[in-house]
Amino acid sequence: MRPIIGITSDYNGGDRPEFGGKIATCFLRDRYVHAIETTGGIPLILPPLDLPSRSARLILDRLDGLLLTGSGPDIDPALYGERRRFRFKTIDPKRFSLERELVRYALKREMPILGICGGMQLLNVAAGGSLYQDIKNQVPKAMQHQRGGKPAHLISVKPGTLLSKVMKRDELRVNSAHHQGVKQVAAGYRVNAEAPDGVIEGIEAVGHPFVLGVQWHPEFLNPDDRSTILFKAFLKIAARYRKNETQR
Ligand code: MN
Repeated sequence: MRPIIGITSDYNGGDRPEFGGKIATCFLRDRYVHAIETTGGIPLILPPLDLPSRSARLILDRLDGLLLTGSGPDIDPALYGERRRFRFKTIDPKRFSLERELVRYALKREMPILGICGGMQLLNVAAGGSLYQDIKNQVPKAMQHQRGGKPAHLISVKPGTLLSKVMKRDELRVNSAHHQGVKQVAAGYRVNAEAPDGVIEGIEAVGHPFVLGVQWHPEFLNPDDRSTILFKAFLKIAARYRKNETQR
């Protein structure tokens, strides 16, 4: 059975002044949907909701895996105890609240989670970690990480990690479309990949079947072989999760 993967979507609150009074919109780049569909899953787009704490568990009951996506805006630094030090847009609180609730309960039931780019940053912040608000300004000698969807830099994959088991490589060439990154890794997580400048390119939950965050965008590279392998590994664990849930 094809596993059903909930994919979090982005949200423009139309009433916020920065959107110029436009109509509120839920949206998502099709690449995420396409990557899940072409590697064997059924994608289901999850819109931000007004009552996430009441809805999260009911939504998860119908899912086999959770894909946390990235987006243009960043997580509000107040959510990791900092004031905003640079100019950037922040994601709508509605979106963050739903994602935080989904992650909380998905972790509890050992549902597999894949966090991509901002989705990895969300995993870290939701668990109490922090972010660099701007790599260029805050990481000495950092390389350029805002380089779009094409392969841009190498990362080293730490041996013995879930990522290393999935990718079967010590080194990967990845794309890089981020200006923020993980600073303090949250308790319960560990780093599984780093760029040559020390910027964290992947984290994973310790002692969990599959909670993986990657700072790059495998859905841009798909169907290049390593990206396909990453999505297929995620879907395999999601299918196993479904089987266990059904038998319970
Ligand atoms: Mn990068």
